[in-house]
Amino acid sequence: MALRTVRLEGDEILRKKARPVSEINEKIITLLDDMRETMREQIGVGIAAPQVGILRRVVVIDMEDEQGEEGVIELINPEIILQEGSQINVEACLSIPDEQHYVERPERVVVRALNRDGELCEYEGEGFLAIVFCHEIDHLDGILYTDKALEEYDEDLV
Ligand code: ZN
Repeated sequence: MALRTVRLEGDEILRKKARPVSEINEKIITLLDDMRETMREQIGVGIAAPQVGILRRVVVIDMEDEQGEEGVIELINPEIILQEGSQINVEACLSIPDEQHYVERPERVVVRALNRDGELCEYEGEGFLAIVFCHEIDHLDGILYTDKALEEYDEDLV
């Protein structure tokens, strides 16, 4: 595994649409491993391939602290197939350091994606996990959470 450089806001790759993965080969497996390592090093809960400069529809989410080893979710070609309710919460992004903003998201989503073995899986996310799914999948379409932000979160005011 190797650390990859996280692209920051202003880098035009973050604004491009990522292409679907057509074959889960060695390169994709290495990408998944590297994304996991990079996310942990940066203490993030999720990372999308464009954030490490790769325009492929790949996302890694790490909720291991809360949910054990099963908390690591790898999504290849993810699609949100159901969303319901709404919530407003504070988000941050590895590509936009030192900022936090409020964003409105669905309260619950169901995501369908391939795992690294090429199996089609469904994941249900409620609350915080729903936010992470939406935030990361947006990255695959060149959307940053600040595009949808309601207002900046100011720690001094809380
Ligand atoms: Zn992000």
